[in-house]
Amino acid sequence: IKPFDVAAIRRQFPVLERKVKGKNLVYFDNAATAQKPQVVIDALVRYYHQYNANIHRGIHSLAEEATAAFEATRDTVKEFINAGHREEIIFTRGVTEGINLVAATYGRQNIKEGDEIIISGMEHHSNIVPWQILCLEKKAVLKVIPVDDNGELVMSEFEELITPQTKIVSIVHASNSLGTINPVKDIIDIAHQHNIVVLVDGAQSSVHLNIDVQEMDCDFFVISSHKVYGPTGVGVLYGKKELLEEMPPYMGGGEMIKEVTFDKTTYNELPYKFEAGTPNIADTVAFKAALDFVTEVGKENIRKHEEALTKYAMEQLSGIDGVRLIGTAKHKTSVVSFIVDGVHPQDMGILLDNYGIAVRTGHHCCQPLMNRFEIPGTIRASFAMYNTKEEVDELVKGVAKAIGMLK
Ligand code: PMP
Repeated sequence: IKPFDVAAIRRQFPVLERKVKGKNLVYFDNAATAQKPQVVIDALVRYYHQYNANIHRGIHSLAEEATAAFEATRDTVKEFINAGHREEIIFTRGVTEGINLVAATYGRQNIKEGDEIIISGMEHHSNIVPWQILCLEKKAVLKVIPVDDNGELVMSEFEELITPQTKIVSIVHASNSLGTINPVKDIIDIAHQHNIVVLVDGAQSSVHLNIDVQEMDCDFFVISSHKVYGPTGVGVLYGKKELLEEMPPYMGGGEMIKEVTFDKTTYNELPYKFEAGTPNIADTVAFKAALDFVTEVGKENIRKHEEALTKYAMEQLSGIDGVRLIGTAKHKTSVVSFIVDGVHPQDMGILLDNYGIAVRTGHHCCQPLMNRFEIPGTIRASFAMYNTKEEVDELVKGVAKAIGMLK
C-alpha cells in the first residue's frame, strides 16, 4: 500500500465498514485498542484451520509448524524494536504483565528497604501500582516526576529526585491520556550516569514511533500487541540479556524449566525461563502479521498522516467555544484530549456515540494525572493510520452539536 493511500488502508480493516446507531463508524479510540487489518484476522483463522498445536515440545508436523510461526513472531519483534538478540524478546499478555514481571522479579531481587523508584506524574495505573506493591513489600519509596501545565515532564526536577538510593526509573514513552512524547533518551542517559535501571512503557509509542531499543539504551521496554493493530492478549517484554539472565523466573510451570525433581528445579534458558505454560499461540502468531503490516505501510508514512490529523483536530476543536485542550506538549502522538466547560466528559461520549463516533472518556487509567489537572477526566480522540480528515470534521461537528444539546 504505497504511497500512503488512506482509502486503500481503510479497505484492509473490515470493521470500518460497519454502522453504529445508523451512522458510519468513526473509530477514534485507538489509544485504547486499534482495529485489526484483514491480514491479522486471516493469520488467526489460518492458525486454527491448519496448524493448531502446542508448541516447542511436539515432534509432529503441526507442532513444528506452530512452533515455527510462534518463533517467527519473536524474530519480527526483534527487528521491529531493533533488539540485539532474539532471546531478549519475552512474550507476555501485554504491557501490564510486562511491568508486573519486572517489578516482581528484577524489583524483588534488587530493591531493599529505603531504596527509591522514580516514575512520572503521567503514568498509566499499570506503571504505578506494580511499583507501589513492590515498595510496600520492601519498604521502598516511590517518587514522581511532576508534569507541567502543557502536560510535559518537568525535567529539571527529575535530576533533583535522584539519590544514591534510586534503583529503578520506570517511565511512559508516550502518554495515553495526553499524547506527550517524553524525552526517554535523556532520562535514560541521566539514569545510567547513576547506575539506575530504566523501564520504558512503550504501550503508546510502539505503534507511532520508530523504536530502537539499542539506540535508546533502555533496560526494559514493554509493548501490547493490541495497540499495534495486533490481537489482544499478547505483549512483549524486551530486556537486556545481562539483566534477564540474572533475574529469577516470574511464574513457575511447564516450559520454563530444564529439569525438575521434588528437591530442585533448574530453569530453562532465555527467553523460555519467563514463558511458563502454554502461551497465547494463535494471537502471538497473528501479531507478526500486524507488525509486518505496519512495516509495509511504513511508520514514517503513518506518523505524517496522524500528525496532520492531530494538528487539524486540535485547531478545529480549540475553535469551539468552551472547549479546552488538555495536553499541548510540543512532541505528541495522535492523542487529542479535551474538556468542555459545564459538560461532563461521559455525557459528551454518549452523545458522540449516538453520532457513530467512538471516543474514550474518563480518567484513562491515569487518575493521578487527572488530579494534577484538577479534572475528573477528559474526552479523548486518538487517531490511527485509517482515520481521515472527514472523520475529524464529523467529530468537530458532533462536539459542537452535543454542546448545543447539553448546555
Ligand atoms: N501503559 C499505557 C501508556 C497504556 O496506554 C496502556 C493501555 N491503555 C497500558 C500501559 C496497559 O496496557 P495493557 O492494558 O495492554 O496491558
